[in-house]
Amino acid sequence: MDINDFIDKLDYSLSINSNNNDESNESNTTNESSLEEIIKDSDEVIKDSDEIIKDSDEIIKDSDEIIKDSDEVIEGGNSKSRSILTFNASVSNKKVISDLESVPFQIMATTRNYLTKAMISNYPETHNPNLLLHMNYITRPFNDNAIETNSRERASLRQYALLAQRTGTHDILIHMPANLTEYINMAQGFRVISDELIKQNMVVHLEIAPWTQELINHLKLQENPQVVVEFLDKVISRFNKFPKDSFKIVFDTAHLYALGYEAEEQIKLFHKYRQYMKYCHLNGNVNAKYTSDSHAPIMSSKSKIKNWELLSAEIAKMDLICIAEITKFGKQWGEWEDYAKKFKFQLIPYHEQLCF
Ligand SMILES: [Zn+2]
Ligand SMILES: [Zn+2]
Repeated sequence: MDINDFIDKLDYSLSINSNNNDESNESNTTNESSLEEIIKDSDEVIKDSDEIIKDSDEIIKDSDEIIKDSDEVIEGGNSKSRSILTFNASVSNKKVISDLESVPFQIMATTRNYLTKAMISNYPETHNPNLLLHMNYITRPFNDNAIETNSRERASLRQYALLAQRTGTHDILIHMPANLTEYINMAQGFRVISDELIKQNMVVHLEIAPWTQELINHLKLQENPQVVVEFLDKVISRFNKFPKDSFKIVFDTAHLYALGYEAEEQIKLFHKYRQYMKYCHLNGNVNAKYTSDSHAPIMSSKSKIKNWELLSAEIAKMDLICIAEITKFGKQWGEWEDYAKKFKFQLIPYHEQLCF
């Protein structure tokens, strides 16, 4: 039956009830029989309204299904809330930067060398606000000497600001403290990054990295996995001292695994810190917990993250830019197409320079 019919019926029943009450009040002669009738009537009203509640529950249940159905529709389409699946691009052919001008992806301009003016000038001038520049591994702003005026770290960070300006992005990725010295130097590291990048209007995306054994032991990670949350809260309270949105965090699923986090615990972290994220790194980890990381595709049988399917399904719903980073175990493009389709990621278009 239609809900409106029930509401009408309820209104009607209530009006009978209140009329009876009115009558008794007016006449002021509340005898037993009329009172009984009132009680009987109001029982019916209660019985009726129970039915209405039961029916409206049904309706609520129905609308839940409708919501579920429309989610399904959204998931099937190209909703903005679905995460994007993208990759690292090799910079051996720098044309990739202009070919994929409006596409989100990550590059590592150099891994073990400093970025030079000559290297920067090889990049085409573009405008790609979703290009993420992964810092090389040798620039450590949380190091002891980084704070000095003419430190190599400061000079290196300035070069990355120049590359960002040339390619039309603001997004630069730097690893969070990963050893005990860097952890102790957290405050001054933030000052170095702020001086050289935040003041140049860059957005710094701090990626959680696997910790050295020394830091694992110092923070007693194995006894208390919650220290990862305390660590992240400490990082966030640091960057909350700077202009809003100048810092973000990046989770790498391989690194979280290295810190002892299985898929289920990772999902909780993703939800807890979603507001601080634009990007994430979607990788499997071949190595054991509490060691280091060695990347594999998240769906690889070599990866140790057990419930990677659950993790993928959850991350795909979070409106993130997910970068599957370069791996030793090559997967074909078609396998990534299947993966994106299965978990409903928005997959970026194919390009020969992408490392998937
Ligand atoms: Zn990284
Ligand atoms: Zn990563």
